[in-house]
Amino acid sequence: MKSYRKELWMEAPVRRAYINITPQVELALADSGIREGLVLVNAMHITASVFINDNESGLHSDFEKWLEKLAPEKPHTQYAHNGYEDNADAHLKRQIMGREVVVAITEGKLDLGPWEQIFYGEYDGKRRKRVLIKIIGE
Ligand code: ZN
Repeated sequence: MKSYRKELWMEAPVRRAYINITPQVELALADSGIREGLVLVNAMHITASVFINDNESGLHSDFEKWLEKLAPEKPHTQYAHNGYEDNADAHLKRQIMGREVVVAITEGKLDLGPWEQIFYGEYDGKRRKRVLIKIIGE
């Protein structure tokens, strides 16, 4: 069995963002030479997510509104976690949107559904963060 590991560096210029990382995962897969197996993609930070959904801007705006209803950023004083930091809402948003995805690799391609794309979700941006890509297979 072969294995391949790569880190992607992310730096969103705003607090919250959704970034399509499918092309970078496809590049990593091509680089790995693996034709059959699995790829794991996970955020390495506790205020960011990796998830799969539609690449549609209306939906991303709906995510933003929904997450702000569930875990509003402000007032910062509403959260016990805030004191030294102001990112309790970002930890909660990450929890809902998830840490990682696993995608099957078939005949050298990501075996995604017709509208599935892989996204990095940032909830406490303006700093450098990493995404891990780990691929195993033959
Ligand atoms: Zn924190």
